[in-house]
Amino acid sequence: MYADVLTEITSKKLDKTFTYIIPSCLQNKVKIGSRVTIDFNKRVLEGFVLNIHNKNQSIKLKEIISLVDNEPILTKEMILLGEKMARTYLCSLMSSYQAMLPTALKAKSSVNMRIKKYKYLVLNKDEQEIKNYLQTCKYERQINILKELLIKKKVLLVSKTSSINTLINKELITMLEEELYRYKYSSSIIDKKVKLNTNQQDIVNQVINNLTDITYLLYGVTGSGKTEVYMNIIDKIITSHKQAIMLVPEISLTMQVVGLFKARFGDEVAIIHSGLSATEKYDEYRKIMNNKVKIVVGARSAIFVPFTNIGIIIIDEEHVDSYKQENNPKYHAKDIAIMRSHYHKCPVILGSATPTLESMARAKNNVYQLLELKTRVNNKTMPKVNIVDMKEEYKKKNTIFSSLLIEKIKDRLEKKEQVILLLNRRGYSSLITCHQCGYKQVCKNCDISLTYHKTSNMMRCHYCGYGTKRINVCPVCGSKDIKDYGIGTQQLEERLNKVFTTARIIRMDVDTTSKKGSHQKIIDDFSSNKYNILVGTQMIAKGLDFPNVTLVGVLNADMLLNLPDFRSAERTFQLLCQVAGRAGRGQQDGEVVIQTFNDNHYSITLAKKHDYDTFYKEEMNIRKKLKYSPYYFMTLLRISGKNYQDVSDVSRDIGKYLRNNISPTSIVLGPSMANVLKVNNIYYFQIIIKYRKDNNLKLVLKQIDERYCLDSKINIDIDINPIIILIISI
Ligand code: ADP
Ligand code: ZN
Ligand code: ZN
Repeated sequence: MYADVLTEITSKKLDKTFTYIIPSCLQNKVKIGSRVTIDFNKRVLEGFVLNIHNKNQSIKLKEIISLVDNEPILTKEMILLGEKMARTYLCSLMSSYQAMLPTALKAKSSVNMRIKKYKYLVLNKDEQEIKNYLQTCKYERQINILKELLIKKKVLLVSKTSSINTLINKELITMLEEELYRYKYSSSIIDKKVKLNTNQQDIVNQVINNLTDITYLLYGVTGSGKTEVYMNIIDKIITSHKQAIMLVPEISLTMQVVGLFKARFGDEVAIIHSGLSATEKYDEYRKIMNNKVKIVVGARSAIFVPFTNIGIIIIDEEHVDSYKQENNPKYHAKDIAIMRSHYHKCPVILGSATPTLESMARAKNNVYQLLELKTRVNNKTMPKVNIVDMKEEYKKKNTIFSSLLIEKIKDRLEKKEQVILLLNRRGYSSLITCHQCGYKQVCKNCDISLTYHKTSNMMRCHYCGYGTKRINVCPVCGSKDIKDYGIGTQQLEERLNKVFTTARIIRMDVDTTSKKGSHQKIIDDFSSNKYNILVGTQMIAKGLDFPNVTLVGVLNADMLLNLPDFRSAERTFQLLCQVAGRAGRGQQDGEVVIQTFNDNHYSITLAKKHDYDTFYKEEMNIRKKLKYSPYYFMTLLRISGKNYQDVSDVSRDIGKYLRNNISPTSIVLGPSMANVLKVNNIYYFQIIIKYRKDNNLKLVLKQIDERYCLDSKINIDIDINPIIILIISI
């Protein structure tokens, strides 16, 4: 027999299978989906078997060297899904498979993970026989062991004593062995076991009564009880012995949802997110492969878990960008969810209080089915939103805190209620510049100004990580008049401490959450009222449920709005609605203060009114006029390389080639100077293609890709339906 093996090389140059002989010792052991090692041009590589056949081969073939795992790693569904991904995203087949697997199971995983096992004791006779023995037994140790087993049924074996040996020899007890799953999750969250209201119940019924591959958009305002709906649906699904995937955006959100799921479903849940070590992820993944769990809660990559009988896939906060992978393969978890739902004939639920325009447009066109939760549970009111015009505040020299925000924070501190403050920029100050000549301290590798981090007293590049000392003297004009501009979360925390001397303040951003577990600690500590004020970047905007928070302040609502991306108004609206949704989730009403220089911008005035519907209409009009998504599909081509001139020339050629070869109804933007950026000493040019229907486009893109994939100086990156048009990082 022969096996077609796809090697670990993810490059598009070698994106095909190679045939090997299955040696007799591995007959019936090598299966489709198995991970094997092979000799490839005198290198030992790993790969996946994608096909097994007995077609006679004319050329001389080599044998497979060895089989890596006892069981296949890729399921039949995964093999098909990988092919579909390669076609959809124009990525290599191997990169699709690698993206589906945890580190330990990827082809050529450098980490060799051991499966840990533990031993335990169980009774080997029925209770009556044990009790009879106890009556006659005189040995205290034996009695204790048997008594413990009668109560606990299963007892961990610490060391094998002579009493244990005796009991085993008498066949009263046995020793068993099981795989140990190393990830230990503990949380203080308890299951409230609420009774669904009729709106929630209707939605659960509608989904449960039609278990086929429908995609639902659950549009429910913040605090409308979406999580409770998800859990009820999942409960029904697993009772009928099917499996459920629940995706949450990022680790910050995962922790609270995981807590809720663990509290309700206990050991039925596996958890997959970036906060786990490679070993822990491997163990959680094995729980899935070994059929030990029915539910997975996780971030983006959890969409690929190898469940074989999926009953529901839920994507919470579907509007969040992190569901799209930014490096190859540039997949979107929503696309994958829908592909898998067709395979399993199960529904997908996309949930959000602020759905993306794309999803809502699809719901309105009946591509998705719309489900709505229009009110908060128990008819709680939406928080009152105040907009503060910072132009006026600047006149009063209030550059960071408006008088209104100060007044409201004071009030909440007196009432012992909690406050969340959002500032979408980490670090201390975002710009260090010479007041005399305008010199800016920029990164030596990137076209980006450095951010000052006071705690480490360093200037840091948020793009490439470069760090250097802060200047005290201008290197251009020698002036000592060096000024800071733009406040970051570090400085905000410091200023707050000065204004509210007795308040306890905690900060959550990339810098305070890099250590394992630090995220959850901040959330737990804030939940249990150890702090009065939580300061953070947009990490704190999503999903968190703190009942004692009655005030949310947005320090600078313009930060996202000012980014030159066609989605900036949508992102601003989403962020403001989401962060406002953190207020007033408990008994007391919530209130929001938004500070902005654009107090008349529709994304801000409509967020004040929680008016998604009007925002949707206004923004759709603009998108239509400007021919943007969702009216047009988009593809982004990023051309990069070390030499500016090379990249510039190639970009121009590609632009021309595209214009000449794709449909005349499609629009090619660029390459333009405005889109060029230097990051980490690499120059980036961008071309954007907008199209409604273009049968030729994929083919033309493939040609371009093939033409340059052998060129070592130029890198071409294709992003189908890009989420982020600019390379941004906060
Ligand atoms: P969303 O995800 O829509 O923002 P959540 O699911 O987090 O809302 O629910 C908000 C709060 O309301 C939670 O504390 C939740 O326990 C509670 N809740 C949800 N459904 C009900 C219900 N039917 N009755 C009472 N409380 C509920
Ligand atoms: Zn100067
Ligand atoms: Zn840099």
